[in-house]
Parts: sequence; structure tokens; C-alpha cells
Amino acid sequence: MRTNIKDGIKFIQFDIFEDIGINHAVFTRQGGVSKAPFDSLNLGGTVGDDPDHVIENHLRVFRTVKRPFDSRFDVWQVHGKRIICTDSPRPIERAHLKADGIFTDNPEVTLLMRFADCVPLVFADPSKHVVGIVHAGWQGTVKRIAAEAIEVLKRQYASKPENLLCAIGPSICKSCYQVSLDAAQQFRDVFGQEATAFIEDRDDGIYLDLWKANQMTLEKAGVRHIERADLCTAHHLDDWYSHRAEKGKTGRFGVVIALK
Ligand SMILES: [Zn+2]
Repeated sequence: MRTNIKDGIKFIQFDIFEDIGINHAVFTRQGGVSKAPFDSLNLGGTVGDDPDHVIENHLRVFRTVKRPFDSRFDVWQVHGKRIICTDSPRPIERAHLKADGIFTDNPEVTLLMRFADCVPLVFADPSKHVVGIVHAGWQGTVKRIAAEAIEVLKRQYASKPENLLCAIGPSICKSCYQVSLDAAQQFRDVFGQEATAFIEDRDDGIYLDLWKANQMTLEKAGVRHIERADLCTAHHLDDWYSHRAEKGKTGRFGVVIALK
């Protein structure tokens, strides 16, 4: 993983995607125009930020990755497990579709998703020329959206799991992520005994390791090449937005990927 700063915009890139002809970046919150509590590179349009600032931030992001703004495809992220495969950008006048995973094999499309604690799963299949992003909060993780993504890649693009490259991006870490008894129970119902690997009962509550849960789901689906950022959004508020640590009053950082 590398950290870059370009015109004051700080972003990270995964080593796993180096030299395979894709363009990607995980943007921190640094280098935008939004004011507190959205400071400053907020890409969330429904969090209460000034819409003009959000648009300017989007333009900066697309300029940084040298992609035209009208190439973007993004969705309304709803903590489900629906995945959309698109072969065209989202027309400016068309409303966002509801989904939590987006894939494309068209080099003219730039995929964008927004995060603030939920796990970004970033995918590339160099042999089939496909890229994708998945949004996995605890709800998407318990619905095993990571496994759903692999199924979609196999079905839609004839991808082989062993050829896939996957990165697990900045998101809330286990020690910052206390969850309800009900959420923990849902994981135990779905994952059975395996849940003990990522759910920990402590004196002060139950804690969930989203990185481990998603990594295990990917590995079980046959993915061999996984890079983890191991960066916690709630621990590092100078770089990331954290819904939990900032009590819901915050912005969203962007993850962008496109084929070259
Ligand atoms: Zn943390």
C-alpha cells in the first residue's frame, strides 16, 4: 500500500493492483473544500454538506485520477447485497440505483463508492478485465456480500476466484467496533462456529472484526490474493470519516476504480 499526496489531496493505492492496467485510489478526507464536520474532501451528497462543495470535491477526485467526471457510475448504498454490473456511466439525469456492489468491464466507466467505517472491498480480475467495488458494513458482511460478489463475477464475467485480486480498505477496526447482541447473534446464525474468529465477548460488550469476517468470506469463496489496508477509520480521524467515532455527523470518503 502506498500513500500519495497530489495538490493537497491525500490518497492511498494498493500494491496488489500495481502494474495490471487499472486506475484506482482510496481518497482520505484531506484536500477538499467542505467545512466542519464534513472537512474536507466529502463525497457524500446526503449528509448535510453544501452541494456545491460536494460537487467541487468530486471534480477534484476525478482530476486526481485523470478520469472524466461524466465517466462515473455510482449507486445509492443501502446495506443490502445487490450488485450491479454496468457497461455505461450513470446518466447525469438518472437517479441512483440502490445497490452495494458495482462492477464493470468497460474502460470508459469509473466506479465510485462512499464510505465512513463500512468496509470497502475493491476487486480486479486482470484476466477478464473487470473491476469492482463492494460496500460491506456489518449488515452487508452478515449477508455475505463478499461471497455474492464472487458469484456475480463468475456468472457475469466468467471470472475464476483464484485469479481475482481483492483489497480490504480502510474501515472500523475490531477494538473500535462494539456491536449489539442482536447483530452478534445474526453472525453466529450465519457463520456458526466460524464466528468465534471475528466476534469477541469482552467485559464491556461484544466486538466485531469486519476485516477478518470479510477476509474469511473471500477465502472461503476461493480468493487467494487479498491485501488488507489494516487502517482504522475511527482511530485516524485526520485521514478518514468515521460514522461511529463522529456520532453520525461526518462526511464520506471515496473509493474509485477504472480499467485503463
Ligand atoms: Zn480502531
